[in-house]
Amino acid sequence: MSRSHLCVRPDCSEPAEAVFRYDYAERTVWLELLSADLDAGEWGLCGSHADRLTVPTGWSLEDHRPLTLLPVEPPAPPVVVPPLAV
Ligand SMILES: [Zn+2]
Repeated sequence: MSRSHLCVRPDCSEPAEAVFRYDYAERTVWLELLSADLDAGEWGLCGSHADRLTVPTGWSLEDHRPLTLLPVEPPAPPVVVPPLAV
């Protein structure tokens, strides 16, 4: 529980503030506030990348983060999560 998590984006070394997971069958991506630890199938994202998270066509994104964490910075290019084959 003590290890810190970093953003999974390869070009980013910011600490993770959010976590996302996805269900291939439901074509849904869930984005939530990072809590204690990451479970298998969960991936950390920094606040900036979490705010720019987008999903592939046909998928839905459910953002369950508190509204107070919505971005105050200008929009940046979207980040597409490549669904990983299991
Ligand atoms: Zn990041």
